[in-house]
Amino acid sequence: MGSRLSIIKLGHPILGQSSSLIENIQDGQTQSLIDNLIVTVATANGVGIAAPQVAISQRLFIVASRPNPRYPHAPEMEPTAMINPKIVENSTEMVKDWEGCLSVPGIRGLVPRYQWINVEYTDRNGELKDKRLVDFVARIFQHECDHLDGIIFLDRVENSQDLISEEEYQRLQNPKT
Ligand code: ZN
Repeated sequence: MGSRLSIIKLGHPILGQSSSLIENIQDGQTQSLIDNLIVTVATANGVGIAAPQVAISQRLFIVASRPNPRYPHAPEMEPTAMINPKIVENSTEMVKDWEGCLSVPGIRGLVPRYQWINVEYTDRNGELKDKRLVDFVARIFQHECDHLDGIIFLDRVENSQDLISEEEYQRLQNPKT
């Protein structure tokens, strides 16, 4: 069982850095970082979290899509640790949809992302995986991959009209309330 880590916010210099490859996946430190990130993303109602968001500049993130108050329509999946991930192929089609970030509280932005991607990563047991991800899960992967390169979703928003407050976003999701 892991413990909750504190999440660094926009402006922290680590969020702008490029992270290092992880060489010792079986290492106790890497394994407990994975456990802690899984707890941290669940407690924060996130659908993904990257190691740089807890001030650890290493190429690792968790994808943990599930419906929750921040993303009511997210598909359900087991939290998955993805180590040294990369996109090996992508759709030509891009799709714009709303994103938020645990390191950028209170703001949502419309971000263009590839509709599908073929990816490679190493799992927490050291096995190399390749997968095709589509739609929302592909979006999470691209968002988290950006964190490993020091890129924040705000960098990909095309204009300021594509930025809204969390409050307005919730109103768009639940028009009756
Ligand atoms: Zn983020």
